[in-house]
Amino acid sequence: MHPKKPRRRAIQTARLHAPGDLRLEPLPEPQAGAGDLVIRVLACGTCGTDVKILHYGHANITLPRVMGHEVAGEIIEVGAGVDAWSVGDRVQVIAAIPDGECFQCRRGFQTVCEHLESIGYHYDGGFAEFMRVPAKVLAVDGVNRIPEHVTAAEAAVTEPLACVLNGQELADVHEGDAVVVVGAGPIGCLHVRLARARGAAQVVLIDVNPSRLELASRVQPDTLIDGSTTDPIAAVLDLTGGRGADVVITAAASKPAQEQALAMAMPRGRVSLFGGLPKDDPIIHSDSNLIHYRELAVVGAYGSAPRHNREALELIASGQVPVADLLTNRLPLDRVADAIQIVERGEGIKVVIEPNPAG
Ligand SMILES: [Zn+2]
Repeated sequence: MHPKKPRRRAIQTARLHAPGDLRLEPLPEPQAGAGDLVIRVLACGTCGTDVKILHYGHANITLPRVMGHEVAGEIIEVGAGVDAWSVGDRVQVIAAIPDGECFQCRRGFQTVCEHLESIGYHYDGGFAEFMRVPAKVLAVDGVNRIPEHVTAAEAAVTEPLACVLNGQELADVHEGDAVVVVGAGPIGCLHVRLARARGAAQVVLIDVNPSRLELASRVQPDTLIDGSTTDPIAAVLDLTGGRGADVVITAAASKPAQEQALAMAMPRGRVSLFGGLPKDDPIIHSDSNLIHYRELAVVGAYGSAPRHNREALELIASGQVPVADLLTNRLPLDRVADAIQIVERGEGIKVVIEPNPAG
C-alpha cells in the first residue's frame, strides 16, 4: 500500500543550534511514519516568539531544532492509516499540540494541557522546504483544510489569530463592548479585527511607537492613541464617558501596559494579559483595589486549542477577519534571519517565509 520510497534527497531548512545560532542547512527530506503527513511548506509566519527563541532559546525547545510554527502547506505524503487526507490537499497545521487525555484536556482546557508540545519546539517546524506533521497532531484534529480562495500566506495567519480568539473568548469580548488594545504589532492588529468581528461598538488601539501605529492604522480602530505623547488612561476615560473600557487587552510585553490596563477598565470590566513579560522580570506593581472595588476580571491567555485554529481559519475564509493586507513582508527561506529582524524592529505587520515561492 505504501511502497518503500527511494533514498531521500536533502531539503533546505533554518535550524537553531543554540541561542543566536540559526543556520541555513540541508537535512534529509522528512518521511511520513504511520499516522503522519509530510507537507511542502508554502508559508510559515514569523512572530515575536521566534525573536525570543532566536536570542534566548526557550525552556521547552530541544536543540537543534528547525524553527517556525505558523504553518501552511500542501500534503506530499500520507502515512499509513491516514484516511482523511490526500496528496495535494492544502492544509494549515496547529502549533500547540495537546495530548487530549490529561486532566486539563478532559476538562476541555487544551491550551493548558499538562503535556503540551509544539511544532518548532519539540518537532521540526515550518522554516523548511518540507515538514513532517506528527500523528499526534492528526489525533487531536490539528490539521485544517485551506479553502481554495484562501492563499497559503493568509492561512499562515490562522495560528496567531487562533491565539487571539482564545484570548477574546476568555475576556468575553462581545457585541457592544468598548475594547482597548494596547500594542499595535501583528497580535494587536488581529485583536482589533477580531473585536470588530465579534461586534465591539468601539475599538481603541494604543502604542508608544508612532511609526508602528501608523502601520497598524490599516485595521481601522475608531481611535489610535500614541502613548508616548498622550496619557493613555486619561484618553481612554475621555473616550468612554469617564467609565473606562469593557475590555482592555495588553498585546505587548510591557509592564506599564499591564499596570495601566487595570486603570482603563470600567467596573465589571475584563482585563486580558495577553502578552507575557520577560521571564526574568515578570513582577508588576498594581493597585489591587482597582480589581476589588470595580469587580474586575483579570484573565490570562496562552496559545490556542485545535478548535480555535479551525474557527480562526473560518473567520479568515469568510472575510470576517481579513488578513491579506496584514501580510507586509514575504521572504524566501534563505532570508529568515532578515525576516526575524523585521519582526524585532517592528517594521512589518505579518512577516511570512515562503520556502517554496513557486508553490
Ligand atoms: Zn492534555
